[in-house]
Amino acid sequence: MLVVMSSDASAEQVARVIESIRTINLTPHTLPGPTRTAIAITGNTGAVDARVLEALPGVKECIRVTKPYKLASREMHKHDTVIPIKTTGQDIGPKTFTVIAGPCSVENEKMIFESAEFLLSKGIKMLRAGAFKPRTSPYAFQGMGLDGLAILKRVREKTGIGIVTELMDTEYAEAVEEASDIIQIGTRNMQNFSLLKRVGKCRKPVLLKRGMSATLEEWLMSAEYIMAGGNYQVILCERGVRTFSDHSRNTLDLSVIPPAKTLSHLPIFVDPSHGTGKRAYVPAMSLAGLAAGADGILIETHPDPERAMSDGAQSLDFPGTEKLMTQLKQMAPLLGRTM
Ligand code: PEP
Ligand code: MN
Repeated sequence: MLVVMSSDASAEQVARVIESIRTINLTPHTLPGPTRTAIAITGNTGAVDARVLEALPGVKECIRVTKPYKLASREMHKHDTVIPIKTTGQDIGPKTFTVIAGPCSVENEKMIFESAEFLLSKGIKMLRAGAFKPRTSPYAFQGMGLDGLAILKRVREKTGIGIVTELMDTEYAEAVEEASDIIQIGTRNMQNFSLLKRVGKCRKPVLLKRGMSATLEEWLMSAEYIMAGGNYQVILCERGVRTFSDHSRNTLDLSVIPPAKTLSHLPIFVDPSHGTGKRAYVPAMSLAGLAAGADGILIETHPDPERAMSDGAQSLDFPGTEKLMTQLKQMAPLLGRTM
């Protein structure tokens, strides 16, 4: 349920509605808008009786939200969500196109600084790199862990680059939140509900990758878990799903972008590196992601992809990244986006 206040409702009237929602043991979420405040209600398992709330002073109307995801739905929040990134001064959201790039894993300090300097020189203000890596094999490189996070913190401090890094376990939530500007939740954890609840308590935006066999509705329900905890800054990220196709690592489902935009107000990114698994296909799918309406891309870029400790085959080298940036910068303004 969404309680829409009149445009001239007073702060006391808004507070009274919030209090009444709490009295019936439900959770209010205040959504200030450009002309009026709306209060979303979650926590109900059945329909909420609107009559009590509608009778309160300052209430314009109560709207029933029909979708199972509430806070993530466009029914609840008409306008596209904008997510400001403090470290870089960027806004993620409509009319922009944000590139986040970097190696799959933090391998050592030198390659992270080299990557950050290269990215910044090409106008890329956010570095992605995993300190905790979800690997299919227990014998594969698992990431540098806390030492990796310490490197990421140093590179942000020294260069001002924004950091995107993955959280795999609730145990490291505080450490990852501190080291990052955006917390990544990987495809394998899209339905790790304890982890989703934990990042719902974080004060950093969350990049939520789509589960490799998740429907759009399941994905939005996972976003809902994070938002229900009070963290409304969720960025969706399509990274490819499992299909019968075997010409690429996954099938990058760009066709999910228009329906995701219709159903939800959340920004959506595309990860063409995991989506294709092959560096040769990454530029075409990055440009296609921009054309399909994505708000940004997350790509793997490595100073020496042949020697990468993870995902080298899908990582662009620096000249490849530079060429892609040039193409994106040419295409973005034609589609009304700034970069
Ligand atoms: C990654 O971003 O390096 C990663 C492991 O991604 P995904 O969760 O999409 O496989
Ligand atoms: Mn990777």
